[in-house]
Amino acid sequence: MRRIAPLLPLLASLSACVDIPQVQAPQRRTVQQSTAVFTPRPDERQCLANLGATRANFTPLPDQYFGAGCSTLNTVRLASLQGDNAALALSNLGPVTCPLASTFAGWARFGVDRAARQVLGSPLVRIETMGSYNCRNVAGTERRSAHATASAIDVSGFVLADGRRITVLGNWSQGTPQERQFLTLIHASACKRFGTVLGPAYNAAHRDHLHVELGGGAFCR
Ligand SMILES: [Zn+2]
Repeated sequence: MRRIAPLLPLLASLSACVDIPQVQAPQRRTVQQSTAVFTPRPDERQCLANLGATRANFTPLPDQYFGAGCSTLNTVRLASLQGDNAALALSNLGPVTCPLASTFAGWARFGVDRAARQVLGSPLVRIETMGSYNCRNVAGTERRSAHATASAIDVSGFVLADGRRITVLGNWSQGTPQERQFLTLIHASACKRFGTVLGPAYNAAHRDHLHVELGGGAFCR
């Protein structure tokens, strides 16, 4: 009360000469809408349970339609994944569909963390990305990208416990033999888990990241 009191004369003088706009009551969502948005289907619940079993740290997100073929349905926000011995941090990652997150969690631990130990002698602590959801077409086409439905992740780099940072842009062709071997190895293991993997060998647009998505059959470049 004591803090507010000096303001009262000021407020009184303001209200005398200024029209204070009416505050609109927030629009209420119907219960039906919110139930439809937030209740996962049984297969979605199973996916969330499987993702939880990997000890990933995540938050399920409400379904959203953005029009023009863009949506985030059955997605999660991943805070961290679990490696063999410690949590794996993630940079710059937006919403990801649950099945993609689940596959990504397996690749991060068994494909990347273990390759980092075996080839580079240090565990993985962070995966850097260039994002996941993006309402756009495949470059140079009229076709919607898997990013338009949060069904793809662009992976750009890896930080190890000893402080080393291995990036697709900097180390794919110019790294030490071990760094290049590491990147070749994780690219190959990604191809075993994801339906589509595109890296620097595919085209110049992928010189700085690996694009991974579940769909597309077995397309590995
Ligand atoms: Zn991509």
